[in-house]
Amino acid sequence: MKAITGKHTIQSEYPEILYDESRYQLGVPEALFFPESEEDIQSIVREATTKNKPITIIGAQTGITGGSIPIEGCYAISFSLMDSILRVSTNKNNDIILTCQPGITLEKIATFLSRSDHQTLPGKELLKEGSWFYPPDPTELTAQLGGTVATNASGARSFKYGATRNHTDSLSVVLASGERVSLTRTIRQTSKRAMELITEEGTVLSPPVLSIPIPQAKNAAGYHLSNEMDPIDLFIGSEGTLGIFSEIGIKLMPHPTILGGLSFFPTHTSAFTFADFLRTNASVAAIEYFDTSALHLIKESGSLLSTPIPSFPENAKSAIYWEYIETEEIPFESQEELWEENLNKSNSSFDKTWSGFDRREMLKLKAFRHAIPELINLQVASHKKNCATIRKISTDAAVPAHRFRDIFQQFTTIIAKANLEAIIFGHLGDYHLHFNIIPKSELELQSALNAYDQLMEIVIAANGTVSAEHGIGKLKKEYLNKMYGSEGIKVMKTIKSFFDPSYTLNPGNLF
Ligand SMILES: Cc1cc2nc3c(=O)[nH]c(=O)nc-3n(C[C@H](O)[C@H](O)[C@H](O)COP(=O)(O)OP(=O)(O)OC[C@H]3O[C@@H](n4cnc5c(N)ncnc54)[C@H](O)[C@@H]3O)c2cc1C
Repeated sequence: MKAITGKHTIQSEYPEILYDESRYQLGVPEALFFPESEEDIQSIVREATTKNKPITIIGAQTGITGGSIPIEGCYAISFSLMDSILRVSTNKNNDIILTCQPGITLEKIATFLSRSDHQTLPGKELLKEGSWFYPPDPTELTAQLGGTVATNASGARSFKYGATRNHTDSLSVVLASGERVSLTRTIRQTSKRAMELITEEGTVLSPPVLSIPIPQAKNAAGYHLSNEMDPIDLFIGSEGTLGIFSEIGIKLMPHPTILGGLSFFPTHTSAFTFADFLRTNASVAAIEYFDTSALHLIKESGSLLSTPIPSFPENAKSAIYWEYIETEEIPFESQEELWEENLNKSNSSFDKTWSGFDRREMLKLKAFRHAIPELINLQVASHKKNCATIRKISTDAAVPAHRFRDIFQQFTTIIAKANLEAIIFGHLGDYHLHFNIIPKSELELQSALNAYDQLMEIVIAANGTVSAEHGIGKLKKEYLNKMYGSEGIKVMKTIKSFFDPSYTLNPGNLF
């Protein structure tokens, strides 16, 4: 196993591991490890525990809440050398399971699934029939599988297929004690039975069965705790605070035929009306929104993109990227008339829609969708050169359906009153839009933080969530506190203390 020691060496030779996409930075590790096996991870954890060193777990660092940012003097563990696919198998429901090391990127999984020659992989014959698909698509394909399970990442298609949790079948987890536990979805926990985990070393663990109130929206804030759950669900979305994933089994599904389109609208309300129609259609997989500022950003920075973007239709003030799962029973053709009618009701049409009906067009639309968060992050990095404290202030809130339109209005009013601008895009299907404020100065940063406080108060009062997909990390702890209150945090800390009494794993995340 490769291990780099000494703060100075790490700072000068591996400066990129000191921050994530939030561009926030905290401290320098005392040692940086690149494990190559589960045993390597166990030995790092045991050494850290003996020497009383905190551990920071590093994925691809595409996260935007500082979850993987090392704290001062820690042992940092990077998974870049654990990026293999280990085997293909089936579970008790006959689902096809791909077991991978945690450092594999989503890109590498997608490339693997697009190939037909799987060389010597154990169980490869199970992939012979048809082509296979891993639905979670959190836009950034360089993210590692471990990072996406730790944050329970979701993306455009989570509207239809749900977040990473729904597609995680098994986990091998190295606990803070250095022992390893294998979890699969076959261990079903019911309300009356105590949860029981048995480590590879034979230790029996019975964590307390606790629950907290769940918001009325897609949620990635804090631990998943309910009276009826699988123990595996406790670890998914726990942001590396309960254990380190050393192997992950993901559930594949037969590759559907996906068609897409980008429809343009003259106002945000007309786009929202079209989204209301899309939500009623069971074949729709994604409903993604882009506001005027997002379209403007693409127009202005188009030259930075590898794929050229054509001109937008006249009067385009907002857009919706949608995906449709075509089947023999319900081909898109059978829906065209209904869609045109609904596009017209929203002052749009197929003439004002870029189609993604073949692979090349789909790739262009995906490049468009990916470009917006990436261009925003580039702008933040550029402003940071003038003012080191600058960071993006971005909401990740989801709200109950019936409150969506009025909360959208309240958000835009608060941001305008603070003399700020937001670039708005995101997962409209799940009532989960990202309002991105890019401060240019320390003064604007403070106004943005004040505005953010007000926005989160509204979300919490409406029983929404302060994080629907990015997690809490080190940057949103205050809001986790406000969302669950001291009782909810106490419950989560009881779970944390059960698995990691010395707070060795990812201290600074969540609490
Ligand atoms: C352009 C762009 C678009 C994005 N769009 C989306 C989106 O649509 N949806 C979405 O959900 N996210 C999105 N993200 C955020 C990010 O991609 C996700 O949060 C992703 O899940 C992070 O994965 P990572 O490997 O980069 O993890 P990191 O950022 O390195 O880490 C994230 C957390 O996971 C923990 N972790 C990493 N590996 C392990 C492991 N093996 N065991 C235990 N804990 C571990 C870390 O300690 C940290 O707490 C976007 C990011 C960018 C830059």
